[in-house]
Amino acid sequence: MKSIMSVCGPVVTDDLGFCQCHEHLAVSKGVSCEKNPVLLMEDEEKSLQEALRLKEHGGGTVVDAQPGGCNRMEEALQRISKASHIHIIASTGFHKLCFYPRNHWVSEKTLEELYQIFSHELSEGMYSSIDDGFHPRDTKIRAGIVKMALDKEGLTPVYRKLFLAGAYAARDAEVPMMIHIEKGSDPIALFRFLRENGFRAEHMIFCHMDRAVLDLSVHRKLLEEGVFLEYDTIGRFQYHSDERELEIFRYMMDGGYEERLLFSLDTTRARLKSYTPDGIGIDYLLTDFVPKMLAFGFTKEQIHKISHDNFIRVYEEGYCQT
Ligand SMILES: [Zn+2]
Repeated sequence: MKSIMSVCGPVVTDDLGFCQCHEHLAVSKGVSCEKNPVLLMEDEEKSLQEALRLKEHGGGTVVDAQPGGCNRMEEALQRISKASHIHIIASTGFHKLCFYPRNHWVSEKTLEELYQIFSHELSEGMYSSIDDGFHPRDTKIRAGIVKMALDKEGLTPVYRKLFLAGAYAARDAEVPMMIHIEKGSDPIALFRFLRENGFRAEHMIFCHMDRAVLDLSVHRKLLEEGVFLEYDTIGRFQYHSDERELEIFRYMMDGGYEERLLFSLDTTRARLKSYTPDGIGIDYLLTDFVPKMLAFGFTKEQIHKISHDNFIRVYEEGYCQT
């Protein structure tokens, strides 16, 4: 594969630059921010300022992890990308069901209907006007990845339907599945479910494991199977220090998994400097964490793998079907 779909069209993989593969740059008002106010990032000008700061410090590509129907701002993302020259890859798929109004289409539609919606967003264009009710308007701006979310309640019938719809859409569009792992959920059970249904480990990115699953042997089990792990408990000192994060990276790399690791910040309003001046900023990986990695003894080549090569690898390896 030579290119990945961004909100401004295909990007040649060599041009992606420094990749942050799970961020939130713009999120409009809705149930998610009623549950948690720091999830509201609705000011397009502020979001643009954040993207410009990232560009200034050497950023290249950001995956916006907000799926359709859940306050995604697909058209704003395209304008921000054009103005900042940061490549933005948008998400289709689904988030935790607690982030949607009751009886939302995401839980009501059939597996086939969900598959059609996700596939359309990947191959034709993302829909706007699908947060409250389903009044789709095709923006012709394509999604480039399938976001899915495993919550504490696990693989209930509605989540099974959603995971299968998302996984089929990802497989058919040849893009990765990027999966939110909630604290208290069972990522191994999810992995087995997807595998039993014929989906390849090399197609999957499990996110947030560094704060959601403290038992590192679970991480290694998934890595052994070929799953990619995206770590983002970086600059999040209520969970652990950056030094602890570096130790986790070192432990996984010593196990031989440096081609399976990705990083990002999973930003919220509280961490974006343009919204919260004393936040870490979306450029924190470049300004702070990468220098800490170098000081800790990681090589530039290893950092290049985590920030670039491995993101391309998950598209390329997921691409070969069995
Ligand atoms: Zn997220």
